Amino acid sequence: MILLDGKKTSQQVKEEIAAEVKAIRESGGKTPHLAAVIVGNNGASMTYVNHKVKACQMVGFNSSLIHLNEYITEEELLIKIEGLNKNEEIDGFIVQLPLPDHIDEQVILLAIDPIKDVDGFHPTNVGKMALEFPTFIPATPFGILELLKRYSISTDGQHVVVVGRSNIVGKPISVLLSQKADYGNATVTITHSKTRNLTDITKTADIIIMALGVPGFLKGDMVKDGAVIIDVGITRVKDETKKSGFRLSGDVDFETVSVKASHITPVPGGVGPMTIAMLLKNTLLTRTMKRI
Ligand code: NDP
Repeated sequence: MILLDGKKTSQQVKEEIAAEVKAIRESGGKTPHLAAVIVGNNGASMTYVNHKVKACQMVGFNSSLIHLNEYITEEELLIKIEGLNKNEEIDGFIVQLPLPDHIDEQVILLAIDPIKDVDGFHPTNVGKMALEFPTFIPATPFGILELLKRYSISTDGQHVVVVGRSNIVGKPISVLLSQKADYGNATVTITHSKTRNLTDITKTADIIIMALGVPGFLKGDMVKDGAVIIDVGITRVKDETKKSGFRLSGDVDFETVSVKASHITPVPGGVGPMTIAMLLKNTLLTRTMKRI
């Protein structure tokens, strides 16, 4: 079994980005600048955003963290977003999800200028991705593709089963892997909570991508020998032996699945760090992205 080491691989990606930033600076170009907006004090969201800001510093980007009160109105948030859209210093920005219930996420996503939408969540960018135009690919699916690429795991003609159909992971990775492209050309089955006989389906998969957010859901008896397992899930599970009071758990029961898998991502240290590295990559891509 080969561990798909997202920590090591994301480090390589970040070193490559840092070298590009250095070259940009040396040639008198502008230092890339990523901004992150966070509303409220959700612990997991704060952790993710802080990791993103720290990663910016590591590669030599400028970064701004815009931390807003949880009671901010939708109108006030829209004004902040308009400010970021217009701010020429900022190349790209993200609005960390989830947002508080009184704010409509769709309204906020639509307000982000697609040319600065480095999360790739705006409908314009989702449409471009589906039509295979150059665009920002959402960071988690982008990270999965990069991990497969760097470990030379071909997806050509493979049966990929995706568990979960969210807009940020399940849906885009299903589209990307079924495209006529390198690290595409797979036969993709997308599954969700209404799927019947899921085990019958996962057992036929060459590659399984788990993105549902249920700790340890995929068990060894649900996979065939030699399958490649990508675990996107990250759930905080109460654990009093930890200083923080919790541990992070993936959607895969690592103990029973890893003995059957040919390749598997750990949690933590798999898809998570790749997601952050690819957000940086998207920020770099703002330099060449065209408004079409
Ligand atoms: P969502 O929470 O938005 O959706 C979960 C999906 O799983 C839904 O499509 C749901 O089906 C499906 N599902 C739920 N229960 C079952 C079940 N019993 N059988 C089959 N399908 C089921 O998913 P996200 O993509 O936002 O997040 C998934 C996990 O990935 C979470 O743990 C999240 O924290 C993590 N994550 C990790 C990232 C990383 O960087 N590593 C990035 C983003 C997310 P239905 O549509 O029918 O409700």
